[in-house]
Amino acid sequence: RAKQQGRNNYQLYTSAIGTKVLERLVLENNLYKALDSHEFLLHYQPQINLENGQIVGMEALLRWQSQDLGGLVSPLQFIPLAEETGLISPIGEWVLRTACAQNRAWQLAGLPPLPIAVNLSARQFQNKNLASTIHQILKETGLDSQYLEIEITESIAIQDMNFTIEVLHHLRNQNIQIAMDDFGTGYSSLGALKHLPINKLKIDRVFVRDLVRDSNDAAIIRAIVALGHGLNLKVIAEGVENLEQLQFLKAAKCDAMQGYLFSKPLSAEAATRLYQCQYAGRLTQNSVAFS
Ligand code: C2E
Ligand code: MG
Ligand code: MG
Ligand code: MG
Repeated sequence: RAKQQGRNNYQLYTSAIGTKVLERLVLENNLYKALDSHEFLLHYQPQINLENGQIVGMEALLRWQSQDLGGLVSPLQFIPLAEETGLISPIGEWVLRTACAQNRAWQLAGLPPLPIAVNLSARQFQNKNLASTIHQILKETGLDSQYLEIEITESIAIQDMNFTIEVLHHLRNQNIQIAMDDFGTGYSSLGALKHLPINKLKIDRVFVRDLVRDSNDAAIIRAIVALGHGLNLKVIAEGVENLEQLQFLKAAKCDAMQGYLFSKPLSAEAATRLYQCQYAGRLTQNSVAFS
């Protein structure tokens, strides 16, 4: 019995400290090889207009299919590590190029043009060459700049406000769209918001999750929609999982939504099929909610 307990204590120790360090090392070593061995891929999650149920955009979400770790690793696990190691630069460039190329391919296949949203990390945003890198990628892939949307977070924006405003103006001057991701969870002041040349607010899914039961969340969502529209911005809600949430957002005049209710993030092939179905007018999923 004592022996057993001793073993349990040891396990407790390793799981608390040892495995954390080990996991990190394994993750880091593998991350270095991942780009070269083509282990990254993008999934695409459709964004839906709340008035008519049409797809109005796609968000590209990075996935790491790791051979050595035996499966899909979440971006929440490896993006912070990629940031620390600097690997985020080549990875982020790969994401931008792949997303733009995919969007161009959809257009060349005759699908109605939509913007593709790409997440930027803090370190990528601080890179002085960002605007020229993006410009180059748009040229290479042949994608018109109005069909690229960059997603930044409040924490990126407030790090160096003047620099942020300058970079965003640079991107806006190229006619690239800018969305503020995870809105409401960061620390940016409302005063700062009016100086940022952005097009869209994305309401973080923490407010959407309990909105049906929590009147505070409901009030926050109504306030964000009013704020966004007052500043001439589009407002989209993330993490919509049920019809009650969708109906609330529709009534609150939120412009669009993204979430498992309509679709999880999909492989390029599955996203293409969904996009084609919608275009062909054969999409009936959830149509009741929009009629
Ligand atoms: P995000 O940009 O806020 O992306 C939305 C996240 O919510 C995605 O998680 C998506 O799969 C998830 N999601 C969408 N609908 C629902 C829903 O109805 N319910 C729930 N529970 N979750 C939903 P994912 O793909 O794991 O990405 C997590 C975060 O990792 C992203 O949050 C983004 O901050 C970051 N990320 C993803 N791809 C990239 C990338 O290419 N570059 C950078 N820098 N960051 C990325
Ligand atoms: Mg995002
Ligand atoms: Mg988000
Ligand atoms: Mg995020």
